[in-house]
This record gives sequence, C-alpha cells and structure tokens, in this order.
Amino acid sequence: MREQKACCQGTRRDGQPCTVRPLVGDRYCFAHSAATRDKRTAARREGGRNRSTLIRASRGLSPELATLQEALVRLFSEVKAGTVAPRSAEVMATVARVVLEFGRFAFDMHDAAELRRRLDHLEAQLGAGGVRAG
Ligand SMILES: [Zn+2]
Repeated sequence: MREQKACCQGTRRDGQPCTVRPLVGDRYCFAHSAATRDKRTAARREGGRNRSTLIRASRGLSPELATLQEALVRLFSEVKAGTVAPRSAEVMATVARVVLEFGRFAFDMHDAAELRRRLDHLEAQLGAGGVRAG
C-alpha cells in the first residue's frame, strides 16, 4: 500500500483546504492539530482562572484599572499561547505600566484626602469632647 502524502485536513480561515504538511502521527498541521487546540483551551482556561483571582484582587480598583489588569492577564495568556508576539506585548506592557503608575498616584491622592477627612473628623470629635479617655 502506498503512503498518502496528504495535506493537513484542516480548513484555512479563507475557507480553502489547508496545504500545510501534517504533524507526525497527526492528520492536521500545527495550526489545526488537536494538540494546538488543547493548548489554546488551556490558555483560555488559565485566563479564566486568572480572571477569578483577578476579581478578588481587583476589589477597590477603579473600573478602568480593573479593565487594564484584566487585559494584561489576557495578554499574558496570549503571549504564552503564541497568539501575540512578545514584542507587541512589550509595547502594551510599557503603556500599561504608565497607566498603572498614574493610577497609583491617583490612589495615593485619594488616600491622602481620605486620611485628611478622617483626621478632621477626629479633631472635630476631640474638640467637642466626644472621645472618652479609656
Ligand atoms: Zn492545517
């Protein structure tokens, strides 16, 4: 029996049959094989796991920063899965770092304002004799 030099059994995005040589012991090429699909699924699943961790970690973050954090975690998964070039990710991470630094600055400002408000409140209570000595 003559061995068939078949192409990958997958279909390209443009609807044409895939012409890439299949992986050894596989009817599909790297892009179409089940192994790759599993890898992609694993990356998605990890993204989901990271997402729930993220939701816990994101409490107290502004919606903008929570969105950014979520995007970064997704980016991490995509770089790992090879669907985003590391160089592109580097640029996005650099921009994200600036946004995060700004967010931290805004948070510190808010924190300072909150402390000042509490201090004013305590001072007002002390002034009114509202605090009993223990
Ligand atoms: Zn293929």
